[in-house]
Amino acid sequence: MIQAPEFDSELYHTTLAQLDRVAERLQLDPDIHARLRYPRRALVVSIPVRMDSGRTEVFIGYRVHHSTALGPTKGGLRYDIDVNLGGVTALAMLMSWKCALMGLPYGGAKGGVRCSPRTMSVRERENLTRRYTAEIILLIGPDLDIPAPDLGTDEQTMAWMMDTYSMTQGKSVPGVVTGKPLIVGGSAGRREATGRGIVYVLYQAARSLGQQLKGQKVAVQGFGNVGSVAARMLWRDGCVIVGVSDFRGGIYNPKGIDVPQLQTYLQETGSVVGFPGTEPVTNEALLELPCDVLIPAAVGSQLRADNAERIKAHIIAEGANGPTTPEADVLLRERGITVIPDILANAGGVVVSYFEWVQGLQYYFWKENEITARLQELMASAFRRVWNAAQKGGVDLRTAALMEGVRRVADAHVVRGLYP
Ligand code: NAD
Repeated sequence: MIQAPEFDSELYHTTLAQLDRVAERLQLDPDIHARLRYPRRALVVSIPVRMDSGRTEVFIGYRVHHSTALGPTKGGLRYDIDVNLGGVTALAMLMSWKCALMGLPYGGAKGGVRCSPRTMSVRERENLTRRYTAEIILLIGPDLDIPAPDLGTDEQTMAWMMDTYSMTQGKSVPGVVTGKPLIVGGSAGRREATGRGIVYVLYQAARSLGQQLKGQKVAVQGFGNVGSVAARMLWRDGCVIVGVSDFRGGIYNPKGIDVPQLQTYLQETGSVVGFPGTEPVTNEALLELPCDVLIPAAVGSQLRADNAERIKAHIIAEGANGPTTPEADVLLRERGITVIPDILANAGGVVVSYFEWVQGLQYYFWKENEITARLQELMASAFRRVWNAAQKGGVDLRTAALMEGVRRVADAHVVRGLYP
């Protein structure tokens, strides 16, 4: 295998370790395996942005296409201070396996800009988004690569991207991004899709384990788009939400937190910290709270060798991408904890992004209940396939999910052959 130090990062090592393990099990052709370890293309851009102070600051951004064997690429755009080329490449690779696992006609991509979005004004974020879009314009398009929101970005970010791209084409091109506001061609249920998908697979997992979800104690790390929707749905369905956190810290109440009231408090104060009737906990301690279900829904590498032994939950649903290191994965498996892997648990977002793309291409929009029903069906059937494959092969859910995703991408590479 060639060395590629440009992609060096913790998350890239994690995703490579996963791929290598699965390649061995699948007895993958070594030449195909080697192709899958690296992205097809990766673009690094510098983004000069006029700040409110009048100064011009330069940010570094990336867009990476991992595999285009199954179709145009799809993947989120992340604004975070820890963004780097290796991390974005790893996330693009995970998107390839995720899209393939869910049977979507997409390859994997990811984008990111190293910045602190919370310290920037709306105007600065708009300037950043527009210039970043202009810099990566050759790599995106409705039949080429379709970005979506991720950590630190939202519907508004997608609207700016779509507008910037459309301006260069002289016409409106809604299909260039998904996760847009409804008024410009977004899909009903896209914002809630990832959180909902997590809840659907949790129902399936509980049923497969012979349990009921209702009444279970749940802790959620990250109370953004993904974590807050999952927490609210589980609260509504009778789970006890004992702890939640955001980048400022966490809160804990063993008797349960009223999630709608917490959302109002968050809107007023900008954080979950200090919510009346709760005790403060750190983000590290939140992961180790006494609970049945843990949903890491913030950033990567949160469950590691140094805390895996102290996790009390018996089900972990990975809302975030790559929240578990390979060492922690082994320890959790040995302890009999059921880990629903990221490429399955958080796939609801890309599934409804696919629905949005299809609706946009057809100029025909579906009702929210149709979208929710189709999402539920796809998530439940993917879970059952992965669960059955894991039982049959005597492997954990992550291995079974990766085996299906990687095999499909590899099969597409094999039938397409190598150019020239
Ligand atoms: P978001 O920006 O809406 O929310 C992120 C939440 O995590 C916020 O509450 C934030 O305060 C908190 N957070 C940020 N950094 C943190 C840190 N270092 N420690 C603890 N908390 C921190 O982002 P999101 O869209 O909810 O995405 C969350 C995770 O889910 C990411 O890993 C993302 O890749 C993954 N994901 C998102 C989608 C989607 O559709 N948005 C789909 C699949 C996977």
